[in-house]
Amino acid sequence: MNNPCPSCRQPKGARKYLCLTCWDTLPALARRHLNRRDQRAMSRLQELYRQIAEGVPLREIEVSP
Ligand SMILES: [Zn+2]
Repeated sequence: MNNPCPSCRQPKGARKYLCLTCWDTLPALARRHLNRRDQRAMSRLQELYRQIAEGVPLREIEVSP
């Protein structure tokens, strides 16, 4: 599979950060920040993926505003 969800390894949409199930598990505030597409969007995405790689539970993930 060429585009798995980085958290649960299930298929996800090509342009999505996570599959829908994992996305819905993130805190609302983190989702709001991640949905903003500005010049910091890539570094927010890296914050998200780094925390997933470190094993932070999805519900506890925090992303910079
Ligand atoms: Zn997932």
